[in-house]
Amino acid sequence: MTQVLVFFDRVETELSRAQAELLTHADALGDTVVVTGSLPVTGTAPLAVKGVTGVLTGADHVNAPIYAPDPALADVVAAAAGELDPDLILGLDAPETVDALARAAVLLEAGLITGATGVTGSGAATKSVLADSWHTTAQISEDGPLIATLRPNTVLPVLVDAAEPEVVELDVAASSAVEILKEAELPSTGRPTLTEASTVVAFGRGVEGDLSLVEELADELGAALGASRVATDAGWIDHSAQVGQTGVIVSPKLYLSVGISGAVQQKAGMQTSGTIVAINKDEDAPVFEIADFGVVGDLNEVLPQMIEEIRRRKG
Ligand SMILES: Cc1cc2nc3c(=O)[nH]c(=O)nc-3n(C[C@H](O)[C@H](O)[C@H](O)COP(=O)(O)OP(=O)(O)OC[C@H]3O[C@@H](n4cnc5c(N)ncnc54)[C@H](O)[C@@H]3O)c2cc1C
Repeated sequence: MTQVLVFFDRVETELSRAQAELLTHADALGDTVVVTGSLPVTGTAPLAVKGVTGVLTGADHVNAPIYAPDPALADVVAAAAGELDPDLILGLDAPETVDALARAAVLLEAGLITGATGVTGSGAATKSVLADSWHTTAQISEDGPLIATLRPNTVLPVLVDAAEPEVVELDVAASSAVEILKEAELPSTGRPTLTEASTVVAFGRGVEGDLSLVEELADELGAALGASRVATDAGWIDHSAQVGQTGVIVSPKLYLSVGISGAVQQKAGMQTSGTIVAINKDEDAPVFEIADFGVVGDLNEVLPQMIEEIRRRKG
């Protein structure tokens, strides 16, 4: 039986969709043990799902939880790997996780593959590259576990309730290198999280600061809103919505690009999306090079028709 260690940089009272996806993926591969630096007050209740046989945390996780970017998270993962000798160590493809798992890979002298879309029990990781036109499969040649981060939206999350797993504290404490001074919950937009959403509506300079149509379209589709750097720099939306090389990387099933030219730095953040639909009035815009469907037209004329058609089909 393949032994899978799943790393979450933190566990809240409810699992995120991406965390549920990762546990679904792990359950299909073998026995799963979760390793994390912190647990919510409800303990392991969110992890009481089929396949999860145990939870490992840092020492005294109740009074001294270990949060990203504390480098001790890597020590937690390495200590857990020392206890379990897993075949696979899996995490989400998010900056906090990649940071901790990269450090853990150094400690364990193990290989790390980021941005995978799938992993097999024998330690092969698949990646989608060049705008999903190629799939590559890689295997770590050294002994030791394969450490991989998995992109969201690669599997349908299906979790079955089970008994609460037991918690075992590892002999690793939070380091003094990082001190969290304040934590503040971001105000909810009512839309899905950008990095986890299965549909993203992204907009650029073309909207000229008027978000009414892209917001309406996003809400009809249950989508997250993303933006180009021009749009975030202009202050039309918060910087956290920026998709691209210096923003977030998204990999939704459907990415709608509205009034975005498709510069290479923008493509770097969205080219592995499943289906890319581009709306741009310039037929030579680079975004059309990677779009599956393109509409050449003024977004102010195209979007109202799209919204009307979506509403008609939804009945
Ligand atoms: C180091 C570095 C890092 C960068 N990182 C990022 C990044 O992470 N993310 C990012 O997005 N950019 C990034 N950029 C900037 C990037 O190079 C582009 O400048 C930016 O993506 C352009 O944004 P845009 O497409 O919204 O604007 P523009 O390039 O100005 O394109 C606007 C598009 O809208 C179309 N348009 C205009 N009006 C309409 C209309 N009414 N209907 C339909 N279409 C219309 C135009 O035809 C045009 O194609 C980075 C640049 C550098 C140098």
